[in-house]
Amino acid sequence: MSYGRREQRSRKPGAVHSKSAIYVGRGRGAAGRWGNPFRAAGPAAMAFAQLHKAEHYRGLQWAATRLYALWVAGSLATLPAAIAAAASAELKALGDPAPPTVEEIRRAFLGAAGGRDVSCWCAASVDCHGDVILAIAGGWLPQAAIGDTPLFPSGFRVERRKDVTRRAERALLSPVQRMRWPNWNR
Ligand SMILES: [Zn+2]
Repeated sequence: MSYGRREQRSRKPGAVHSKSAIYVGRGRGAAGRWGNPFRAAGPAAMAFAQLHKAEHYRGLQWAATRLYALWVAGSLATLPAAIAAAASAELKALGDPAPPTVEEIRRAFLGAAGGRDVSCWCAASVDCHGDVILAIAGGWLPQAAIGDTPLFPSGFRVERRKDVTRRAERALLSPVQRMRWPNWNR
């Protein structure tokens, strides 16, 4: 099973977007089905980042991503009351959309060849709910995909980086070394 990748969309005129990646940014109606209702600059993410003394770009991106994972998991109520209240107010303002279920995400983002790619506006270097979607499609629980504080690297992103490194290392092996370590394929 291979994981999908996250692509960053560009607003530059003439930017080309891959057609195979599924758009997970915000949008109206069906186009926004996979968008994160929690904005990094929204009240819930701000309060969440503040709780962890991480009111900076990376901290806010973590907070919005963690909120998304908890929303999909149906666990927003486990947050401190003020943050849970801010999160439900944000959802209410959007008409209380139902979170996608894990099964729904797997149906949409798991193709015959493994995880589908996703595309979002977020920079590759920061957390994005697209990572949570990729992780869920890869069999992870939503909450396991993103660290429970901004101070530690997020589980899925770290695993993926290791995976990519292992593959890069394997590409450097000679055919004889590959025969000697036939299971060295992760
Ligand atoms: Zn994003």
